[in-house]
Amino acid sequence: MAEVRLKNITKQFGPLTVIPDISLTVPDGSFTVLVGPSGCGKSTLLRIISGLTMPSDGEVMIGGEDVTFAEPSDRGISMVFQSYALYPHMTVAQNIDFGLRLAKTPAAEREARVAEAARILALEDYLDRKPGQLSGGQRQRVAIGRSIVRQPKVFLFDEPLSNLDAALRGQMRVELAQLHQSLDATMIYVTHDQVEAMTLADQIVVMNRGQIEQVGAPMELYDRPATEFVAAFIGSPK
Ligand code: ADP
Ligand code: MG
Repeated sequence: MAEVRLKNITKQFGPLTVIPDISLTVPDGSFTVLVGPSGCGKSTLLRIISGLTMPSDGEVMIGGEDVTFAEPSDRGISMVFQSYALYPHMTVAQNIDFGLRLAKTPAAEREARVAEAARILALEDYLDRKPGQLSGGQRQRVAIGRSIVRQPKVFLFDEPLSNLDAALRGQMRVELAQLHQSLDATMIYVTHDQVEAMTLADQIVVMNRGQIEQVGAPMELYDRPATEFVAAFIGSPK
């Protein structure tokens, strides 16, 4: 597990200021959900934490270490995207194993970790199948499996369920909550879906136009929204 801290993060794309100044602490082991309307900067912030995007200014700390300039692969994080590109010609087992193979993890260790991920994600019976033979929810679990085997301290999710239908989204929400419990990891989860935020989070971060409107537990935001925006987006009418 690891705490994630952002200190005075800013991000400009050319003349466009997408993040004016964000400081945020994501507690060790929390399920923190970044929520806000499309275009408010959620993915940009997540990419800055992962190292896929450099901030224009500010610091990223993971587990007490300054990783602002560290490579994504050296940050102890793993990212699950909405468009989970599985390798179609590989089996489920090979897909989950792929990153470990690249990292030259010893074979016996790889086998054990893939088996463990398959058990956690209820994919044991599908290990020999190709992605084309799986449902959307199963494919999403394979994508998560690829993260689990790398044993990251921090999981980053960018709208991982938005390609799934409503029923499956509900089911995957339950599975993600269970996953968080069983892995005991820090999770940062981006969504534009208030219901997802309310049900999954122990801490919600409400974003609007590249700024943080409010941080708090779901019921706190619901009962005591700090701004009109939070009230309209999540809370009861102010
Ligand atoms: P969200 O994930 O909340 O929908 P994003 O972080 O993707 O929002 O985008 C925030 C803003 O930054 C948007 O206005 C978007 O157009 C802009 N943006 C994101 N990435 C880039 C980029 N690489 N170049 C220029 N503008 C970008
Ligand atoms: Mg986004």
